[in-house]
Parts: sequence; structure tokens; C-alpha cells
Amino acid sequence: MQDTPGGWKRFVRKVEPYVPGEQPSDRNMIKLNTNENPYPPSPDVVRALRMMSSDENRLYPDPNSTVLVNAVAERYGVKPSQVFVGVGSDDVLANAFLTFFNSENPILFPDVTYSFYKVWAACYGIPYETVPLTEDWRIDPALYARKNGGIVFPNPNAPTGVAMDRSAVREILLKNRDVVVIVDEAYVDFGAESALPLLEEFDNLLVVQTFSKSRSMAGMRIGFAIGNEELIRCLSDVRFSINSYTMNRPSLAAGTAAIRDEDYFRKTLDKIMETRDSVKDLLEAMGFFCLESCANFLFVSHPDVPAKELFEALRERHIYVRYFSQPRIDNFLRITIGTTEQMQVLLDSLTRILRERAV
Ligand code: PMP
Repeated sequence: MQDTPGGWKRFVRKVEPYVPGEQPSDRNMIKLNTNENPYPPSPDVVRALRMMSSDENRLYPDPNSTVLVNAVAERYGVKPSQVFVGVGSDDVLANAFLTFFNSENPILFPDVTYSFYKVWAACYGIPYETVPLTEDWRIDPALYARKNGGIVFPNPNAPTGVAMDRSAVREILLKNRDVVVIVDEAYVDFGAESALPLLEEFDNLLVVQTFSKSRSMAGMRIGFAIGNEELIRCLSDVRFSINSYTMNRPSLAAGTAAIRDEDYFRKTLDKIMETRDSVKDLLEAMGFFCLESCANFLFVSHPDVPAKELFEALRERHIYVRYFSQPRIDNFLRITIGTTEQMQVLLDSLTRILRERAV
């Protein structure tokens, strides 16, 4: 029964959702498309999960996520009141957009960047403008010196992997003291400089990180933000206005165990960075153009073969990488760094694909 043309559909919030990378069920695949870590989480995570009794799940978790907040605070040398945790950094970022980007002026982010920013802005009705990366794929701080309602960018940037040094981040902050500046450091552990030391100087800086990449826990969904106490209080107020119990009990136990195992974290990072650097050299020797990456992925393009063709040829061989059909980057592939063995299979397959095409 419908009284008015359009009915309830007229009042629906129209959104164009973010499209995450595929999670295929192909058992023989090599999955290099969503920047997961190829190594398992710390063995302490397994122990922590085993020690949980399933009876504990009868009870709601601690709404303040105290153990995890304290562990993050201790690891980064900040006060617990400066830490906010969420269900992956996507959840943290979504909450931060909702909390801090409430101006009539447009928020700013790079034209080539994490494509979720646009989606959150549209979903919450936040006006935005994109700022072009330079010709050599850098974020130019000078271009962020204009009227805005807030700024967000990843460092290193995604999907390019290109990092800015701390002084460049500081330059953006110096020009934008009256709005919140969010630095999305999802990939920072793979070799970039964190903005965390700038917290002493700027009360409008929010640094967001995740357990999904450097701590191998994408499946657990744990992210966090560190900032000035007042900023964190505002973020928590919004979060508590939506959902009191965001972090479930297994995530609290597993996340706490993971962040305390610094040795394992360092070892895994070293392996991935070493693999990344040697794969980059080998791809360059094959004629690929590779951006300088400080992340757990490489952003590459071949002068003779369109990226889309390479993407499809790799997929036929059960190797999944990421291709973005977007202006400026539609001739690039984003390749997550896997194990050395997985990367060898990738390199062999690319050699074969290029050779077959040449004959
Ligand atoms: N920021 C950037 C730049 C990312 O690439 C990702 C991963 N898709 C995220 C945030 C979110 O990661 P997660 O929600 O798994 O922490």
C-alpha cells in the first residue's frame, strides 16, 4: 500500500558505498589485494584467545575498553585519556568525521587517496574538496593553506605508499590551527615518520592507526586514535551516543596481547620491508615504474602493458592484486607485500605474462 508517489523511499539516506577489495574464496589464490599481513599475529594473541572462556561472552564487554586503551597508552607513551579505540580504523575514522567535521566549509583531502573519505563525507553530508597530489605523487603542504572545515590524509598515502616527513605534516598543522587535522597512519609502521611527537605542539591533531596491517589482525577489527584529551573526549561522546559496546571481549584480549609483543612486531615488519625493497628492485629490472613505498604495498605501472590487462592476467593465474579504475591511477596496480615465496610466484607470473605478450 502506498499513499504518496515514492512512499518511504523518498526519505531514505542515499549513499554510494565504499567498495572494499575482494575477499575471494579461491583456496589456491595468492592474495595481494587488500594489504593484509601475510604473517600470523603474535603467538601471544593465540594464547590470549585460548585463555578466554566462552562463558565470558555472556557478559557485555567493558564499555571503556580499559585494558586495551591502557596497553596502547603504555606502548606510545601517552595518557589513557588520550586514546580512543574502535572496530578497525575505519570505525575510528568514521567516528572522527562525524565528530570533528561539522563546519560549513569543505574538508580537504588529496585527490588520490583512501576512497573511503569521500564516502563518509557524502554519508554524513560533509562538504569536501580534493587537493591534487603533485606530479610526483606527493602531498604538497602549501596547497592546504586555504579555508577549510578540517583536513584528513593518510601518511603514507594510499594507494601510492608515498610518505611525507614529519616536518611536512607540521607545515599543514601550522597553517590549520583552527580545524581538526586527522593523520591516518594505517601504514606508518612500515617505514614512515609518525606525527605522534607533534601532539605536544598541536591540540587539534588526531593520529589514527590500526592493528590490521603491521600487527596482522585485520580479521579482529581493532583501530585506535591518539590525540589531545579534549579531542578524545569529544570523540568518545559521539561514540557513546551511537554504541556503548564497540569492542568485543575477544578483540580486547587479543589486541592487548598483540600490542605488548614488541619483538614479534619488529621481526614481522623487518621481513615485510625487506621483501618490499627487493621486490621493488626486481620489478624495476623488469621495466616497471614503482613509486617509493613506505607501506606494505607497492604501486606500480608498466610502460608497455596496461595495468588492467596485467590485473586480469594475474587473476587468471589466481593472483589477486588491486586495480583502481579512477582518474590518474588507472594504469597502476597496487600489490600488497606477501611472503617471499608468494612474491616469487608473482614475479615469475609477471615475467611470463610480459614474455607471452611480447611474442
Ligand atoms: N586507512 C587506510 C589508508 C586504509 O588503507 C585502510 C585499509 N583499508 C584503513 C584506513 C582501514 O583499515 P582498518 O579498518 O582495517 O583498520
